[in-house]
Amino acid sequence: MPRPIHATIHTAALQHNLERVRQAVPDAKTWAVVKANAYGHGIERAFEGLRAADGFALLDLAEAERVRHLGWRGPILLLEGVFEPRDLELCSRLSLWHAVHCDEQIDMLAAHKTQVPHRVFLKLNSGMNRLGFTPQRYRSAWARLNALPQVDEISFMTHFSDADGPRGVAHQMAAFNAATQDLPGERSVCNSAATLRFASDAQVRGDWVRAGIVLYGSAPDFPAHNADHWQVQPTMTLATRIIGTQQLQAGDTVGYGSRFTAEGPLTIGVAACGYADGYPRHCDTGTPVLVNGVRTRLVGRVSMDMVTVDLSPVIAAGVDAGFGSEVTLWGSARNGAVLPIDEVAQAAGTVGYELMCALAPRVPVAVDGVA
Ligand SMILES: *Cc1c(COP(=O)(O)O)cnc(C)c1O
Repeated sequence: MPRPIHATIHTAALQHNLERVRQAVPDAKTWAVVKANAYGHGIERAFEGLRAADGFALLDLAEAERVRHLGWRGPILLLEGVFEPRDLELCSRLSLWHAVHCDEQIDMLAAHKTQVPHRVFLKLNSGMNRLGFTPQRYRSAWARLNALPQVDEISFMTHFSDADGPRGVAHQMAAFNAATQDLPGERSVCNSAATLRFASDAQVRGDWVRAGIVLYGSAPDFPAHNADHWQVQPTMTLATRIIGTQQLQAGDTVGYGSRFTAEGPLTIGVAACGYADGYPRHCDTGTPVLVNGVRTRLVGRVSMDMVTVDLSPVIAAGVDAGFGSEVTLWGSARNGAVLPIDEVAQAAGTVGYELMCALAPRVPVAVDGVA
């Protein structure tokens, strides 16, 4: 028998969340962002749930090949563009659209031999100061690209640093509008947070939104809003079972470093999930967890292969909490209870993105909802 830990990818939830994005921007096209192996879900596993998207955006060429291999004939966008000249050959062969964010990428295009010109997304650095041409250099980059026979349509993109926070997007939109005004072509500026918060403004909405985290059921602006507020559903469940229990008395401690001390009699359960499964070691006593669908908390430190949980709320609810009980680390329990990944991430001082992406290879993953 393998360890009882397993992850489940929920196809219907992916479909639902994509539909939520579509409702938010009914007249825009949606890139399903599937970088980092579909945020840890697995591109092949997430594909069925996301195939109603208008295109797939990612940044690893090997992942782009995998999307084509699944039979996807629609647009694929390389969000960071190419890294070396021969990547352009793959772009030609697989008809990948690619971002162009620096002069070196224009040089590579200028030297590229292709029958079919490429669709490119010219990236503006509107204040994030990661990738992209500055506003001062944007027009000349466009003119250079526009003169290349290797280039077909030029679209415009930028990326927001604060779409999820109080600073918002207005300052970057001003830079983007100034740099791209009167240039012909499609526009794409919104990530998930901007799509949900600001895309009622047609200029922000643009022609394409780039939805990532919201598709995976995480609230991009948590804790200001949660998944319920945005009406998105968990797309990944990490679950395991209770593999042992202990009866503690007042003064007994739990786990490495004796981080937790019982104040009175307490039943705890040991669940087969640890940091080697991708569960964050930073989660401390109090981190939420479900046992047979009843919400309780971690006690003590996360070990490599185990966590310890307080079973008293489960017992108090009259629910079985013995050996073999279902433990939900995040996602949906069998009784329908939900533990949002954002709450676990918050307890670990991080974001849902990181937890999804860090699911360890040793955890078996299944897709539900498909025969
Ligand atoms: C990752 C990424 C997105 C999606 O971001 P979310 O916050 O997950 O919606 C959009 N655009 C670019 C350029 C990205 O790298």
